[in-house]
Order: sequence, then structure tokens, then C-alpha cells
Amino acid sequence: MSPSRVVVAAVRALAVAAGRALSPPSCAGCDEPIADTAVFCADCARTALPYTERPPPGAIGASAADAGLVAFAPFAGALAEGIRRFKYGDRPDLARPLGRLLLGAARDAGVRADVVVPVPLHPRRLAERGYNQAALLAAHVADGLAASFAPRALRRVRSTAQQAQLSRDLRLLNVAGAFRVRAPERVQRRRVALIDDVATTGATLAACRDALLGAGAASVTYLVVAAAESGVDEVRSSPPSARRT
Ligand SMILES: [Zn+2]
Repeated sequence: MSPSRVVVAAVRALAVAAGRALSPPSCAGCDEPIADTAVFCADCARTALPYTERPPPGAIGASAADAGLVAFAPFAGALAEGIRRFKYGDRPDLARPLGRLLLGAARDAGVRADVVVPVPLHPRRLAERGYNQAALLAAHVADGLAASFAPRALRRVRSTAQQAQLSRDLRLLNVAGAFRVRAPERVQRRRVALIDDVATTGATLAACRDALLGAGAASVTYLVVAAAESGVDEVRSSPPSARRT
């Protein structure tokens, strides 16, 4: 992808976001008009229930360096629909309401971070979509946590097959070693909040974590808007041995 195509894509994404920002607030799940402080309409809110009665899964990490996973809610109902629209429906404006949910979950879990890093997209997919949904969420979270924002700290060193089409075992193999830290000085000895929209098997997050810890990060906390239930255990238990040597 040429730099000019990146710029064109970014400008288009900004224009879409700006246009939406001027229109009345609408439900992230279905576009019904809502109050400015809400994310979902009443009907959708009933299907997007946050983790409240128990701590977010894995918020207490197994080790000092792996500080665990914080998610707003399970990947289901209107939240899943909102995330699909955000990623695949040319709706970068949904970063604001979804980012607000993620920031709230991070605050509730007492997350402390020095630097906020999004899971990067491969440049080809970035050109197709026009924006990296994880980076838009990460900007919102960094602002709210008063942490520095490092959107280019990680890079994808090779394109990987679409994770959604692969089995759990193949997903781990698919992404192992797919990420590198571009700027180690941004993460060394720092507590990193690693941002993605969804944790499915956790394979992508684990591969990013391995790269960050390998570059000297003090700890890595995963912050995702939604967790597919099948993915939570794996994120919690995925071993550092997944690291490629
Ligand atoms: Zn709705």
C-alpha cells in the first residue's frame, strides 16, 4: 500500500467520523436515536449486559508480568452487533461509544497503565478498512487513563490468515511470531495496556504480549470491549511458551 493510499483512507475515515459526530446520537447496535450519555437504546441495552456481578475475567493475572484480561461484556447481542458494524460497516464513529464502555471497564477493574498500545492491522487490511478499530479504541482509552498512546509501537511482520476461519490450534500457530515491537523505548519498563475490540481465542493478544514482554515491557494487561466466552480461559492460561524462539 502506498503512503498516499493510507492518507486517503485516513482522511475518508475522519470525514465519516466527523459527519456522524454532527448527527444526533444513535444506538451503537441499531442506530435508534438515544440520549447523548447512552451507548445503546433500551432494547439493545438488555442484550449487552456488562460483567458486573463477578470481576472481569482474568482481571487478576497469573503473574506479575501478565496482568490479565479486562473486558466490558461477553461478545453477544447488541454489543456484538455494534462491534461488527464498527469493524465491517465503515463506522469509525462507533469508536467513541465503544471506547467509553472499554474505558469504564478498565476503570472499574482498577487498571493502571503507562502506555496504551493497539493490536496492529496488517497494512493491506488497514487500506481496505481505512482505519484500525483497535487504534481508535486505544486513543480513547489512553486519553481516559492519562497514559501515553503508542499506536505504532507494535507492527505486524507478516500477514496472517483471517483468524475467524481457523480452529483454535491453528489460530495460535497462525499468529505466533507475527508481531514485533517497532519502538522498544516506548514500552521498556512500562505497564502496557494492550487494546483490541474482541478476544476470541486470545491467540492474537498472546502473540502481541510475547513481543511486548520480549522488548522489556514491565507488564501487559489486555483490554477488550468484548470477550467470546470460549476465548477467556485461553487468554488466561496461554503460556509464554507460545513465544517463538
Ligand atoms: Zn438499539
